[in-house]
Amino acid sequence: MTEFKLNAEPRVVEPTVFELSSPGRTGVSFPAPDVPLADLPERLLRTDLPLPELAEVDVVRHYMHLSNFNYSVDGGFYPLGSCTMKYNPKINEDTARLPGFTFTHPLQPLETVQGSLALMFTLQEWLKEISGFASVTLQPAAGAHGELTGALIMRAYHQARSDSKRVKMLIPDSAHGTNPASSGVVGLNIVQIPSDPRGNVDLEALKAECDDTVVGLMLTNPNTLGLFDEHVEEVVRLVHECGGLVYGDGANLNALLGILRPGDIGIDVMHFNLHKTFSTPHGGGGPGSGPVGVAEHLAAFLPAPLIGILEPATDELPPLFGYETPARSIGRMKAFHGHFGMIVRAFTYILMHGAEGLRQIAEYAVLNANYLQARVRSTYKVPYDRICMHEFVAEGHIEGSDIQALDIAKRLMDFNFHPPTNYFPLIVHEALMIEPTETENKDTLDRFAETLIQIAEEARTTPDLLHQAPHTTPFGRMDEVRAARELVLCCWLPENYGEQE
Ligand SMILES: *Cc1c(COP(=O)(O)O)cnc(C)c1O
Repeated sequence: MTEFKLNAEPRVVEPTVFELSSPGRTGVSFPAPDVPLADLPERLLRTDLPLPELAEVDVVRHYMHLSNFNYSVDGGFYPLGSCTMKYNPKINEDTARLPGFTFTHPLQPLETVQGSLALMFTLQEWLKEISGFASVTLQPAAGAHGELTGALIMRAYHQARSDSKRVKMLIPDSAHGTNPASSGVVGLNIVQIPSDPRGNVDLEALKAECDDTVVGLMLTNPNTLGLFDEHVEEVVRLVHECGGLVYGDGANLNALLGILRPGDIGIDVMHFNLHKTFSTPHGGGGPGSGPVGVAEHLAAFLPAPLIGILEPATDELPPLFGYETPARSIGRMKAFHGHFGMIVRAFTYILMHGAEGLRQIAEYAVLNANYLQARVRSTYKVPYDRICMHEFVAEGHIEGSDIQALDIAKRLMDFNFHPPTNYFPLIVHEALMIEPTETENKDTLDRFAETLIQIAEEARTTPDLLHQAPHTTPFGRMDEVRAARELVLCCWLPENYGEQE
């Protein structure tokens, strides 16, 4: 048997800025002082700061080189399930950088920022139309922050009715981890609802939990298996009948654009992920944008301020946009107006596509996922095997081999593919969650499917090739156990840092 050896050594040894440093090199030249020189107090001057000394060009090349180690949507296929890593059109970047937007400040007088306010107002209106909700806030910073906002609104709604018994948030077992996390932050008790054999919310289990202590249900539809809940109207009805509200996790809205409006099937409150559905960039932790839409009965609780029309248009003048505070607002969720740059990008994307274009996005996203699923399902088991929406979940193990989802994910990197999401959702054994998005063409999908099929063959014939993958990336397989046990949270520092001379 070939020895199983972890391959954690970097193949490209990149020096750090400290190693590149050479005494006396400098990246800036200060202008001659135009004030008299004065001595600084000795005790404020530190001599033990090990700052690297480099020329500007060395710094630029160093970080440019590091950035080339990153994988990106612009660099290749990124089928990271649940994340909707679609191509971000570059026109979004152009509009977000228009000086009229970048050189404004949120504390400027209203009359001087009417363009920015008009854009935000219009996006609120479009999101209302797309989702079927009565009112929308653009404040939340990301999906999880939208969930927190929604959970606070749901709690405020029950409290306003003096319905104080309600403490339970029902969450299906296929939910994203942020759902229980954000409900937990609000102090609610989380009750998990199992899925049935077709991947829907188990109706009997739901009925058993529906009582007068339910705050609501958090429903992702299509869910994280990429499946549309076949009884969604029944699920909504059951929760409403016991006085609860239904929160829609809108991360998967890409599958529904222009086809189904969540507000129309009775969802009470939902977040959008502008950085997923509406192509604003994400990865590496942000910034994102997670607007929240609510039905009429929750509109009074939205965070303030919303963008509204203070004075309607007249024959001579355009409307005057400004800020509105809903009557029972839960308060502010974010400084100023949320991530304005993301709002401009999403606005551009929606404007560019129009209503027909948005519907096509959903149609192609669903078509691409079903095409891929059909191509790989005879090689990789798809446990909930039915027509999927914009993504599907396969099992990442191969009969007759010890290959796991992780090995398959790492091997895909050798072919310049970003791995799919793995080990999520938790209800699928060795999950590989694949979301191609609408922006990939058939050639890419074919190449990806053929690579997955080849990897399954390698699993049987040359398993060590997979155990030790990736082979072509700047860094090899990391020792994840050691990384977790011997966590190094500090940046790299010279060995003698902190030692007194
Ligand atoms: C991405 C995602 C979230 C969280 O959104 P963030 O913007 O990452 O905070 C929640 N639910 C689902 C299903 C998601 O895919």
